[in-house]
Amino acid sequence: MEERYARVVAALEKRGIKAIYVPDKEGAQQELLERIPAGASVGIGGSMTIQELEVEEALAAKGCEVVWHWRAPSPDQIDPLRRRALGCDFYLASSNALTEDGRLVNIDGTGNRVMGMVYGPRRVILVVGVNKLAADLGAALDRIRREACPANARRLKRKTPCAATGQCNDCNSPDRMCQVTTIIEGKPSSTDLEVILVGEKLGY
Ligand code: SF4
Repeated sequence: MEERYARVVAALEKRGIKAIYVPDKEGAQQELLERIPAGASVGIGGSMTIQELEVEEALAAKGCEVVWHWRAPSPDQIDPLRRRALGCDFYLASSNALTEDGRLVNIDGTGNRVMGMVYGPRRVILVVGVNKLAADLGAALDRIRREACPANARRLKRKTPCAATGQCNDCNSPDRMCQVTTIIEGKPSSTDLEVILVGEKLGY
């Protein structure tokens, strides 16, 4: 493991957040599936990383119930599924950024994803590609506004300045997707929080 990644893992652990490093997506899949027992319910937040991991089928094959609003059968089911996911045994998501001193920085438009990370399911596993690493808090927020928000806004067809120009102008748009910003500084007291740091690009 590169020294930089080892430092990030140690920084997370110092904050009471479990952390491991795996070199690739296959390693992350394996670690996830080892942690989630057969029959568990698994909520998933909006996450390109978890989608790229392609673990849904394997979880279903273990008899797990997967609750993910991205798979809602109709638009009116999206909100109920977001809320149900917060009552599952496990919650899976990524993080928009991870600082080198172990802080997890996220933005959210609805708030369900950042809520699920800190107080909802008792076990939370965040899978974070090394493309999400940032030197410090300022760099983390910069990366979110420069890389995560424009790409997500385009994917979701939001009418925000960042979708049109790739630049944040601290908008007040009704479609704004960064209504809530969270910084996880340490393990939330009622949540078993773990980060799987993956040595390749995942999500954005
Ligand atoms: S404030 Fe507006 S323009 Fe800036 S990142 Fe958020 S949604 Fe995009």
